[in-house]
Amino acid sequence: MNASHASAGSRNAGHYIGGRPVDGTGSRQPVFNPATGAVAKQVVLATPDEVNRAVASARAAFPQWADTPPIRRARVLFRFLELMNKHRDELAHLITAEHGKVFSDAQGEVTRGIDIVEFACGVPQLLKGAHTEQVSTGIDNWTLRQPLGVVAGITPFNFPVMVPMWMFPVAIAAGNTFVLKPSPTDPSASLRIAELLSEAGLPDGVFNVVQGDKVAVNALLEHPDVKAVSFVGSTPIANYIYETGARHGKRVQALGGAKNHMVVMPDADIDQAVDALIGAGYGSAGERCMAVSVAVLVGDVADRLLPRLIERTKTLKVLDGENPAAEMGPIVTRAAHERISGYIALGVQEGAQLLVDGRGFQGAQAGDGCGDGFWMGGTLFDHVTPDMRIYKEEIFGPVLGCVRVKDLKEAVDLINAHEYGNGVACFTRDGNVAREFGRRIEVGMVGINVPIPVPMAWHGFGGWKRSLFGDMHAYGEEGVRFYTRQKSIMQRWPESIGKGAEFAMPTAK
Ligand code: NAD
Repeated sequence: MNASHASAGSRNAGHYIGGRPVDGTGSRQPVFNPATGAVAKQVVLATPDEVNRAVASARAAFPQWADTPPIRRARVLFRFLELMNKHRDELAHLITAEHGKVFSDAQGEVTRGIDIVEFACGVPQLLKGAHTEQVSTGIDNWTLRQPLGVVAGITPFNFPVMVPMWMFPVAIAAGNTFVLKPSPTDPSASLRIAELLSEAGLPDGVFNVVQGDKVAVNALLEHPDVKAVSFVGSTPIANYIYETGARHGKRVQALGGAKNHMVVMPDADIDQAVDALIGAGYGSAGERCMAVSVAVLVGDVADRLLPRLIERTKTLKVLDGENPAAEMGPIVTRAAHERISGYIALGVQEGAQLLVDGRGFQGAQAGDGCGDGFWMGGTLFDHVTPDMRIYKEEIFGPVLGCVRVKDLKEAVDLINAHEYGNGVACFTRDGNVAREFGRRIEVGMVGINVPIPVPMAWHGFGGWKRSLFGDMHAYGEEGVRFYTRQKSIMQRWPESIGKGAEFAMPTAK
């Protein structure tokens, strides 16, 4: 394993271990530019031995980092924050190049990641314990939170900057050391982040990156020195990570897939609802875990809403993500394109009414050199029913299905019966409807007239049901709890100790 040119800008994406880029010796996998279909670079997949080296480097860095006063850890994060702000557009360009999402969307992604760094900069306050004087005569009791050790993050392709930043700023601020295994589909941003962390003064080994596939994931899950695993990705893999990690004695938080509904009540502002459905359904080509993929049209709202929705879906500006006019970019990979196309064919077969067909869109608007890109337009179905696979399964593409229901109760029952419970929205002008919806709905993140209700840094992110395996949400206070464990200390001094052994259960005296 040679330390050399595996950094973000170079031809191959390798690892980052012990504060420096490492080429890696494993097999390679192409990284595509989705807009052109061209191979941009190769990502080197980590061997178990390389994962072990990354964990060893994190383990070696842990004692000193954990012992560093929280305010000094926070100062490193403050410097990292400055660097993230300075390099925000550079990171956003890296995202657009490998993921395909529109540049302004990529900028937004980086900003939402930066939010978590700002939150983590307050770590001295977040780690403050609770102290009770005189729990018994001459005895004080306090609780404190300590870091776990080496923790790992395994992240999906769709937010190559934001999702890792849901994890490592909080983990590191709390005194842990970190090994990130990003998606091999868009590996470069994580390497640039590693460089910026080093530039900010983070000690070598506190943050490491191993590229890889399931081989690397399993090596992390089975490694005895990895104390906790945060995962974000599809539900079958989240389930696997949760069970395997727990079996190996780790704390696990595994965020999975989604099928997010947006209810449009008859009293909603139709223009606002159409804008919300277009943005949340087709933004980032529907490749967001909080994308709206089901519009639940209540009462007679469909007749007023659908003509406008069809028109807007047909005229979506599907362009290269670097084009400032783009509303939606290409699909991330050819395989994802094929999967999504398959679901559209299935929807037709299942009897849903195909109002707008995004297949066959060749990237004609995408400009020169985009002929072989993974292009697709927006797709819109009506009369989708709960028994259809296109309703039940996560498609993760620019496909929006409309389900018609008669009233709010039917809408709530429909959503509560779905196996996923990540995000949901309700568009209405009625305060009581909004209140009842928020109370009754069995979904982790709810938006009232907010189509993509991704909670802010200090509130924590997480779905319900099969959208999250584990007890705690990502970032926010639950993130701090996930990356620390509580210790209780009870103390007295010899002057207050009475004479003689006590055999009864101690109580306050
Ligand atoms: P994915 O599940 O294919 O991959 C996620 C991670 O798991 C990657 O690092 C990948 O390399 C690894 N992985 C893939 N197959 C594996 C296997 N067999 N064994 C072990 N590890 C494996 O997900 P993706 O396609 O990269 O991302 C899209 C999915 O992520 C969607 O389902 C989306 O809903 C979900 N997602 C969820 C959230 C959330 O917060 N709930 C956020 C973003 C994305």
